[in-house]
Amino acid sequence: MGTQRKGINTICTHEGEIHDEQFKGAISPLYMSTSYAFEDVDVKRYPRYFNTPNQVALAKKIAALEHAEAAMIFGSGMAAISTALLAFLRAGDHIVLQKTLYGGTYNFVNEEFSKYGIEYSFTEGLDPKDFEDKIKGNTKVVFIETPSNPLLTITDISAIAKIAKKHGLVSMIDNTFASPVNQNPIDFGIDVIIHSATKYMGGHSDICAGAVASSNDNMERIFQLAKNLGGSLSDYTVWLLERSIKTMGIRVKAQNANAQRLAEYLSTHSEINKVYYPGLPNHPGHELAKAQMSGFGGMLSFELDPAYDASEFQNALQLIKSSMSLAGVESTVLSPTQTSHALIGPEERLNQGISDGLIRFSVGIEEPEDLIFDIEQALKKLKGDKAGLRKVQLAK
Ligand code: PLP
Repeated sequence: MGTQRKGINTICTHEGEIHDEQFKGAISPLYMSTSYAFEDVDVKRYPRYFNTPNQVALAKKIAALEHAEAAMIFGSGMAAISTALLAFLRAGDHIVLQKTLYGGTYNFVNEEFSKYGIEYSFTEGLDPKDFEDKIKGNTKVVFIETPSNPLLTITDISAIAKIAKKHGLVSMIDNTFASPVNQNPIDFGIDVIIHSATKYMGGHSDICAGAVASSNDNMERIFQLAKNLGGSLSDYTVWLLERSIKTMGIRVKAQNANAQRLAEYLSTHSEINKVYYPGLPNHPGHELAKAQMSGFGGMLSFELDPAYDASEFQNALQLIKSSMSLAGVESTVLSPTQTSHALIGPEERLNQGISDGLIRFSVGIEEPEDLIFDIEQALKKLKGDKAGLRKVQLAK
């Protein structure tokens, strides 16, 4: 019998699991030891060497999910991003990064790279030509994020991978928003895949972690830096993350369906000015998303009519929580201006198209009717408050 790549839910449930030889338990045992006897002089197991039994088991699952040869798990998404970038860049090198990126990645590059003598350029737009235009003789890495946080822009993964290959660059993607359930960039030629595992992999808003997947050679290079930087994850959290990923396939598919439904509802609403969701046919990246994603994801953003205040809207919601982070089974909203993109400043926010009325919506697994009801009642409350205020003012 030939080998066949297993389906997503089978990989989520089983890949890499540790068989409990002692008691025949159904799940991977948790090994909390930070100290292991030498197996031989070459194998020294230690959490910061990323090679404890639970780390190795989970890394196998993540590699399989991303169709990669190998993977590593980190203490946060930013630990994964910073380690992967610094592993391929040194003083005098240059990197090209997509204009629309998660605020933390933008800050890391903007605040830290000049200290290490690393040059960087952000693209003007998202067209592959915009990336190629920025490549110089010392460029070593090209970095993209698609769909991006928070405007859900879509970048042509295969075109960027081709440009990187043509110029001998390492291509990297932040695949957090899509999750491996909806998008596998290695199949389109990208070299290094990065995740904030705090998001869809964790999925329950109780884990902070990161992951990188790539070829054996690239992962060896990343490991050599990672063991010195020391950003490994505690084994207890590694074990929790393995458990969480078991349900990632069914969670994310439910979130895809709910987000599509909510995006359609919001796009016909008179109080909502604009909806950003790649699953909507009028989204500028819709056709591209269809070609490179198997689902459009659980994230969307929308702009409230300027008559409404983003903070008041969030306060008026009763079921949908206003909170940081994303991708949990519970629906959450936030204002990027006040949170994820607060530090990049009003000018750069405007340049990226992030308005003060923008609401980022992480759609959970609740019944979509209940989410719609909550948004309706919040908008009604705001309208009522406004009408009430007008009456008071007129009476004065
Ligand atoms: N990448 C994206 C797209 C994110 O949204 C985030 C966090 O919000 C990160 C990376 C950073 O992940 P972490 O908070 O786990 O460090």
